[in-house]
Amino acid sequence: DLKSRFAPSPTGYLHLGNARTALFAWLAARAVAGRFVLRLEDTDQSRSPQIYEKALLEDLCWLGLNWDEGPDIGGPVAPYRQMERLDIYHQYYETLLAAGQAYPCYCSAEDLAAERAVQRASSKSPRYGGRCRHLNAEQRRDLEAKGIQPVLRYRVPDSGMLTVPDRVWGERSYALADLGDFVIRRSDGSPAFFFANAVDDALMGVNLVLRGEDHLSNTPRQILILQALNLPVPEYAHLPLLLGSDGQPLSKRHGAASLRDLQFQGYLPAAVRNYLARLGHHYAESDLLDDQVLAAGFSVDKISRAPGHFDVVQLQHWQRLALQELSDAQLWEWLLAANLPNVSIENRLVEKMLKAVSEDEDLPIKFVAAVRANILFPEEAVDWARRCFADEAFAELEKEDAALAALAEAPAEFWPLAAMLLQQSAGDYRIWTKTLQQESGLKGKSLFMPLRAALTGRSHGPELAALLPLIGMERAQQRLRTAPS
Ligand code: GLU
Repeated sequence: DLKSRFAPSPTGYLHLGNARTALFAWLAARAVAGRFVLRLEDTDQSRSPQIYEKALLEDLCWLGLNWDEGPDIGGPVAPYRQMERLDIYHQYYETLLAAGQAYPCYCSAEDLAAERAVQRASSKSPRYGGRCRHLNAEQRRDLEAKGIQPVLRYRVPDSGMLTVPDRVWGERSYALADLGDFVIRRSDGSPAFFFANAVDDALMGVNLVLRGEDHLSNTPRQILILQALNLPVPEYAHLPLLLGSDGQPLSKRHGAASLRDLQFQGYLPAAVRNYLARLGHHYAESDLLDDQVLAAGFSVDKISRAPGHFDVVQLQHWQRLALQELSDAQLWEWLLAANLPNVSIENRLVEKMLKAVSEDEDLPIKFVAAVRANILFPEEAVDWARRCFADEAFAELEKEDAALAALAEAPAEFWPLAAMLLQQSAGDYRIWTKTLQQESGLKGKSLFMPLRAALTGRSHGPELAALLPLIGMERAQQRLRTAPS
């Protein structure tokens, strides 16, 4: 039975690359009715504030992922926070020490830096030379008497090769002599990443490790540890990196770097899931897929080796498709719930405006139905709401250049005529525009562009016929009368 996991270090908001890793690991488990584990690798205490742990769980839930075992819900091999597993690691250190496969190392940071400098100068790849490998008990006692807290190093065999299979990259072979004895326990007693990560996967029964390509070079060391401890070695699948459109590591500069950035910009989880699932994994279908179909179509064998490039245009494409799935009522809920740091107040304002302008209960739905094809984000809906419902404030809203040009082109007598005929047609859009065409002699773009510009301040947007009832007779007439000024 397949068991995969996501093992983040809660040192910041969930990066999109890591969110994709989590999604892939989750899909791999859900594809075959396997289990999915969430484990927190929080041993770097200086960098694991509580807020990030909480944010991490929230963000994964927002993306729609669920886990069968984890720090919040427990499970058969709890605990799922590494800081609560120190006793477990301790036992395994003892095993390695007793077998002579690990030894304490007292070298100072300066010693090690000097060693590396010498190695680099003779263009050897830097690795630990093994100075503390052969210390005897007495030498160790002396060093400890000086108050030096040793690290623990794994004793890598001097010769031989290690072959590391990977589901994405194929087999790679490493000469053990090149690895150097690596640290498995820090001097403060906390476990090194390699060690805790490998031991936990084995003890938690994880048999598929899906993670970022940046961990590929850690894998031989981890396999050595597992073999030394007689623990099972999982299958590995290393995902190519997620880069910005310019090929640089993905950062805020590219518009978004964390899942939270996307959430705040108003993306729907279904859009983000569908987008990320296709970043480096091939799906034959090009439509928006629900989770079951995404999972059913997922296979580690379909992961590409080429790095993924974050592409806002693609993501927006999925946002468009995800919005289409929502009913008008759901879309309205989505707008009201949008807690965007920069527009939430505006959103409440819109709600108030809507209540105030009319007793018409259906107005929100009419609004959503009118603008939905023209929005991708709540912010854009807020803009249309302002344009529909603002009274005097309308004059202060930004007008597009093309709209200003259209206003300037219409003859001066056009505006009072348009306002009067609107009154006469009692707000019936079809009758209004028909009579206006007859009496003004304008038609097509020359007729509709100035009207759109005067009523919305923009040159494009939802059907005017749908906007007019939202704007209402009074505001519309006011805007027409003051349009030329
Ligand atoms: N804590 C590691 C990270 O966040 C986990 C790597 C792994 O998945 O094995 O990079």
